[in-house]
Amino acid sequence: MSKLIPPHGGKGLTVCLLEGAALEAEKTKAAGLKQIAISPRVKGDLIMIGIGGFSPLTGFMTRADWKGVCDDFLLADGTFWPVPVTLDVSDEDAGAISEGDEIALYDPEGDEIMGTMQVTEKWAMSDDDKKYECEKVFMGEGTPTADEFWKIAKDDHPGVQMVMNQKGVNLAGSVKVLSEGEYPTRYKDVYHRPAESRQIFEERGWSEVAALQLRNPMHRSHEYLCKIAVEVCDGVYIHSLVGNLKPGDIPASVRVDCIDALVKGYFVEKNVVQGGYPLDMRYAGPREGLLHATFRQNYGCSKMIIGRDHAGVGDFYGMFEAQTIFDKIPTPAEDGKALKCTPLKIDWTFYCYKCDGMASLRTCPHAKEDRVLLSGTMLRKMLSEGGDLPDHFGRDEVVEILRKYYEGLTEKVTIKTHKAATGD
Ligand SMILES: [Zn+2]
Repeated sequence: MSKLIPPHGGKGLTVCLLEGAALEAEKTKAAGLKQIAISPRVKGDLIMIGIGGFSPLTGFMTRADWKGVCDDFLLADGTFWPVPVTLDVSDEDAGAISEGDEIALYDPEGDEIMGTMQVTEKWAMSDDDKKYECEKVFMGEGTPTADEFWKIAKDDHPGVQMVMNQKGVNLAGSVKVLSEGEYPTRYKDVYHRPAESRQIFEERGWSEVAALQLRNPMHRSHEYLCKIAVEVCDGVYIHSLVGNLKPGDIPASVRVDCIDALVKGYFVEKNVVQGGYPLDMRYAGPREGLLHATFRQNYGCSKMIIGRDHAGVGDFYGMFEAQTIFDKIPTPAEDGKALKCTPLKIDWTFYCYKCDGMASLRTCPHAKEDRVLLSGTMLRKMLSEGGDLPDHFGRDEVVEILRKYYEGLTEKVTIKTHKAATGD
């Protein structure tokens, strides 16, 4: 009997990825089905459904699921779920598909059929529906009214742009997944399915595991968050996004090298595991924090580290809104339907010269001038402009890897900063 937290939803890991003879048979069938081109976001969602990362989801959402998730964080059957997972198709494609049809889901980037789906519902997603989803999912304390939100969201919020650019019809139904794309080969040292990370944790005898979410290079603050978690849990899972980011972000392979250098040089290696997951950023701020906790539960983590401005986008969210949202979500009584992975809430952390070490707003009584206050965004900006970094912001080994990466770039990147990046 596993001591690890059970997967979300009460049904175990709902794996939809086929293998062996079943995979070969489905591939042959898929070649003869109508093909629908999928977006990068849908591709990531499909792979997560395939490997059980999105348990208990076994397919794309119906309108009732979508509405319940937007309004109340609940699927139609009453299970907690934080963000819509929908499959969009053009009006033209939708016209050629009937409910009950089987279709093939084709990834144009990788030129590969990624899965098949039995269509159980075809539902229109009007511009008003898209706006509704954006306001429910993306609006936060930084832009508390719809007017304020739309004034800047339509140009400056990548999550909103993604939803508003979706095609006009959604298809719901359960899927069979045929491929994990490039992830298992390109990231073979870190890419895990939830069953694999669970096995690693079990082999180490862990029960309480904390997850650290990473999309930026790991610097001292992340290291400190991890070490706080190591003190109170059996181990930490450093889990990086290896899907697509926005231009100017640092590629996953470079970030993985940074984590390796940190783990080797500054951690007791048996207390940490590094992994990668195949999703793109949704830029959903606090709701994305909830999604991070939901799929980490499936990977075997009982705690999700949530620091300052977790999954933040510009100035759209309050600094600790991704922590407080955990206190506002429903907790369905039926077994397995509530989110069990809980947040490990940690205040703003930094190096302080007077404390002579890492500290947080809860432990350090000193002034702003005594602290090294920098976000990952500022770090990238300084490195891309070739400037020197303040002492104690990153470990030398990590800064060296980042510097080499930026020196090798042929095209200069411009990085936009915002209030949340500077602490002002
Ligand atoms: Zn201090």
